[in-house]
Amino acid sequence: MSESRLARLHRSLDGLSVGDALGETFFFGSVQEVLARIVGRATPPGPWTWTDDTQMALSVCEILERRGRIDPDHLAQAFARRFDPMRGYGDGAAALLAELRAGGDWRELAPAMFGGTGSFGNGSAMRVAPLGAFYADDLAACVENASLSSRPTHAHPEGEAGAVAVAVAAALAWRAGEGTLPAPAAFLAEVAGQVPPGAVREGLERAAAVPFDPDPAPLAAGGGSQDLAAARAAEILGAGNQVSCQDTVPFALWCAARHLEDYPAALWDTLLGFGDRDTTCAIAGGVVALSARARGVPPAWLAAREPLPAGRGA
Ligand SMILES: [Mg+2]
Repeated sequence: MSESRLARLHRSLDGLSVGDALGETFFFGSVQEVLARIVGRATPPGPWTWTDDTQMALSVCEILERRGRIDPDHLAQAFARRFDPMRGYGDGAAALLAELRAGGDWRELAPAMFGGTGSFGNGSAMRVAPLGAFYADDLAACVENASLSSRPTHAHPEGEAGAVAVAVAAALAWRAGEGTLPAPAAFLAEVAGQVPPGAVREGLERAAAVPFDPDPAPLAAGGGSQDLAAARAAEILGAGNQVSCQDTVPFALWCAARHLEDYPAALWDTLLGFGDRDTTCAIAGGVVALSARARGVPPAWLAAREPLPAGRGA
């Protein structure tokens, strides 16, 4: 391994936070306006403000930096301490974090969510790519710590599965960047193989069978064509409109798998899915930042992202 655990973690955090912040800017305007910006590869002027995806990832990174492993009690405390209602948390997460901050116990509160099933929202997956980067040299520890990172907020098995899937994808992306990049379907199959049985794993297996070849469609105005393969994938897999791990993680990792060598290309594809685009871009970005070396996070995009707290980022 040519880069330390912490260096990898920070590399992924940069990819995650730039994806989060850029994706959030693509919520504004009509569908036609957003599509035109995607087709035209038009990024807005900075600063791009990051959201809850990055806010929670900062806590995951803090615990790994300070303790070298995930301790759910400390992670719950960090989530609660950093909670900022202005960062776009979902209603369920906001209520949970407010209760944790007031002294509640995550062991009681997290399993009680959603009528006693626990949450399978995509929040467990959106924050976890840096953990996979940290454990890229130990896949068993990656799986175990990703599960632990889910529990303070996402107690449903699909919530844990979403976290495991993204963390494993990040670990494998780092390894791929060190050697030979795998074919997209093989990458997704390898990720799925580490994920417990259930809807997230089935979604990853379905994603591996969605075509990765370009699917060019003519543009009505201005001539040329646009590759719509990612839009087709989003139709099949979902792109986070239900804000669940099941309908977010397979598509985000499909986009990552298709462009392991090219961070901007991965994010443009992810944006084309519309859906929960700060989170889909946070997931794809946190993964591909680890495999894309020559075409990693563009310096101009890093400069446009709202700065991370001091000492964070690569
Ligand atoms: Mg968000």
